[in-house]
Amino acid sequence: MSSTSVTAVQAVARYGYVPFMLIGLNGAGIAVAAAGAPKYWLLVVLAGAIATAFLVERIIPYDSQWNHERADGARDRIHVAVNETLILASVAAIPLLAAIVPAPQLWPHSWPFVAQVLAAILVADFGITVVHLASHKIGLLWRFHAVHHSITRFYGLNGLMKHPLHQTVEMAAGVAPLILIGLPVNVASALALAVAIQLLLQHSNADYRIGPAKYVLALNEGHRFHHLKWAGIGDVNFGLFTLVWDHLMRTFSYDPTRRFDSTQLGMAAKPDYPTGYLRQMIYPFTRGGGCALKSTTTTANPTTDLASDPTANYRR
Ligand SMILES: [Zn+2]
Repeated sequence: MSSTSVTAVQAVARYGYVPFMLIGLNGAGIAVAAAGAPKYWLLVVLAGAIATAFLVERIIPYDSQWNHERADGARDRIHVAVNETLILASVAAIPLLAAIVPAPQLWPHSWPFVAQVLAAILVADFGITVVHLASHKIGLLWRFHAVHHSITRFYGLNGLMKHPLHQTVEMAAGVAPLILIGLPVNVASALALAVAIQLLLQHSNADYRIGPAKYVLALNEGHRFHHLKWAGIGDVNFGLFTLVWDHLMRTFSYDPTRRFDSTQLGMAAKPDYPTGYLRQMIYPFTRGGGCALKSTTTTANPTTDLASDPTANYRR
């Protein structure tokens, strides 16, 4: 390939990736769900999204080092398989839940299907963002959320690299209000795909561009700040789909000049966080998985004082 065509491919990836995923693949998912087609078609779309995510990360990596596995590849694939299965099982359980919990029929069935999905996304975004914020402030929740913050390279599959208990709490907060007003399964299916696509984009190692939309949509440029390892410093940009709630809660943070590398990600106070899947499942239940009052580590950033931040105890 000539250098001109390489540049052209990179340009397409840089500016086309997010619209392709957010509008193209979510649009395909919405069309599949609206038509009531078999649900495995949504898995086909999801597989396409994961394949695209990996391809684009190789065409326009933000940090080429982050494309290389660090004995974490197999573990992350287990995280993805477990958590994605949980999401799909939750969607499948909605009719059952609806039968047990009689919902007042408040759902706007008459709206265009795409508007129903967008409304569901906005409501879920609020619940998930609030639980995410609480997970950085409440020790018990932080224990489980810490698994997600142990990452030191930033790439697509990180989004589903979570303790399943924490994911369940977060998703329940996002979806419970919707189920209580009669969320239809087809809308829930499109929502589940949108969550998976958002997580791929939010943690992507692709150096894509979205212009001023980065101030509204919770994508990777803002989310890297959330993964800064120092206590309190990473307590910003909690949103899953949008940064609207972060603007309102004054937790929005962005600096266009900031560059990130692995030395700035993870948890400064727990550089030796367990890396194996089973150990990550168990660690939150152990004494060490909680918040110690004394930091046993030194911080690589002399400008950051762990002790000065009121939330610091939960990040240790
Ligand atoms: Zn977090």
